[in-house]
Amino acid sequence: MTQEPGAGRMLGDRYELIDVIGRGGMAEVWEGHDVRLGRRVAIKILRPDLARDPAFQARFRREAQSAASLNHPNIVAVYDTGEDILTDGSDSQAVPYIVMEYVNGMTLRQLLSSGRRLLVERSLEIIAGTLAALDYAHRHGIVHRDIKPANVMLTRTGEVKVMDFGIARAVNDTGSTMTSAQTVMGTAQYLSPEQARGEVVDARSDLYSTGVLLYELLTSRPPFTGDSPVSIAYQHVSEQPTPPSQVDAEVPRDVDAIVMRSLAKRPEDRYQTAAEFRADVDRAIMGAPVTAAVPAIVEQPTQLISPVAATEVYAIDTAPVRGRRAQRGAGFVVAVTIAVLAVIGLGILAAALVLNRPGSAQVAVPNLDGLTVVQAQSVLEREGLIMGSQTPEISDRPVDTVIGQQPTPGEQLEVGQAVNVTVSAGKDKTQVPPLIGLTSVADAETALADANLILGRVTEQDGTEPAGYVLAQSPKEGDSVDVGTKVDIVISSGKVPVPSVVGQTEDAARGAISALGLKAEVVYQESQTVPQGVVLEQDPPSGEAVDKGTIITLVVAYSPEPTPEPTPEPTPEPTPEPTPEPEPTPEPEPTGTGDPLFP
Ligand code: ATP
Ligand code: MG
Repeated sequence: MTQEPGAGRMLGDRYELIDVIGRGGMAEVWEGHDVRLGRRVAIKILRPDLARDPAFQARFRREAQSAASLNHPNIVAVYDTGEDILTDGSDSQAVPYIVMEYVNGMTLRQLLSSGRRLLVERSLEIIAGTLAALDYAHRHGIVHRDIKPANVMLTRTGEVKVMDFGIARAVNDTGSTMTSAQTVMGTAQYLSPEQARGEVVDARSDLYSTGVLLYELLTSRPPFTGDSPVSIAYQHVSEQPTPPSQVDAEVPRDVDAIVMRSLAKRPEDRYQTAAEFRADVDRAIMGAPVTAAVPAIVEQPTQLISPVAATEVYAIDTAPVRGRRAQRGAGFVVAVTIAVLAVIGLGILAAALVLNRPGSAQVAVPNLDGLTVVQAQSVLEREGLIMGSQTPEISDRPVDTVIGQQPTPGEQLEVGQAVNVTVSAGKDKTQVPPLIGLTSVADAETALADANLILGRVTEQDGTEPAGYVLAQSPKEGDSVDVGTKVDIVISSGKVPVPSVVGQTEDAARGAISALGLKAEVVYQESQTVPQGVVLEQDPPSGEAVDKGTIITLVVAYSPEPTPEPTPEPTPEPTPEPTPEPEPTPEPEPTGTGDPLFP
């Protein structure tokens, strides 16, 4: 592909590329301008060579879309995704891109590389922000999988912004080649032991990586270093890190304990949730005692030859990675796993274990569709299979039920192998945007479409605002709702309700009428019962909706007795006829703007 995205180029008729702001292992990041909303954005454009695989593209887009459902101040907002078509002669290729919030600041990678030292307290604050983001994402069923300094940014005002949620999975699960030594090296430093072993990854894996990040912020070096990704991965699996206080004496004991707990080899020895981790970090910031104690050293080199690791070795040795794609995870993680096994001299043993298994029994993979995760697990166990990775995915189907599986039902698998499942994370949520104050239904519709919502009932209400002005909305701004929810609005009809002025003095009536943008015209009529100067009748009647500028005719009483002052009547009859008119009782006013429009 020769036609590369360049400055000035438009993506999807909406985003103008301004300048490259960064490059990572799999993408180029541009500063861009969203022409439609007139705002600055960051656009991550996937490397064309990675985008070649359609399965990868689909996965990448899905991950990006599920990340787009995350709405949190510590998470870089994903606004949009799309694809750019690159053409080279007759050849054309779709390159996916992600449009995100532009973060004005620097990554922790840049901060660490600048050699600047952070105070212990500041390091803890940054970690607290990172954990707030993770807590939110984990509760929405999304594991980051690639927490590292390059994926956490600090804004100029000191806020923490975590980015690239779930994208690591898109790369890993399609077995795309991330073989550049540098990339693996960069990533190996923050890998959890279970990731290094190619095992099932859950939220606690992110907490380990966050522990590595905290370690590095405190001491300016990661807990494990080495000349190859393999040696680093090996250390994550089986070496104990030096407590941070031994690297930098300024680190208090309590903070040591937090770091060591988060870096426990076994997920069950770590903090179990981001919230729990964060609570301890907050305690340390306030100088209160923390709950963490340094965990006992757990020796577990034998776990390296778990059946899972072993079958993976077998799969890689005999079949191309792509063919066995869904076998939990990353080409590179598996590669690291194999390398780790080789390094410690168990690789051959592991492979031999598998190869020697005499004619291992085969079973048909059961259909797990619609089962809860727990049910699926026991069905698999009954068949002699095990549950592999559980990938949450936004869906309409009941939360925590299986909506996809790999291998598919009926396929033959060896006893002891894993079936990976996709689990419904429930419907995608979005926040209701503010609509009140927009000046047309079309504007409201656009704002709703941007938030993946639909315009519902539109009710008109008379009022002094111009026609189309949005007066109220339901649900209200900021509510978290399912994507596709209808939002009802009340708009101004542009018409004004005629006020009730019968019974008022002429002056008061004129004032009320002109305040609404209406005009008053007065005729006088003799009255015996109504005091002079008081409005007897009006036309149109109160409550009727009329255009601004409409003339309201007022009939105002005058008393003929003591020489009527204005006497504009052509035939002023002084004969006091019995007035047949009923008393001018002002009707109850149907107007009311402040009341709840949506009970
Ligand atoms: P990896 O490819 O492993 O994720 P990475 O995180 O370093 O590596 P990218 O995520 O592609 O690479 O980001 C590259 C750089 O672009 C970042 O280091 C950062 O400087 C910049 N960047 C990314 N996203 C944004 C954003 N939303 N706002 C501002 N700058 C950004
Ligand atoms: Mg990144």
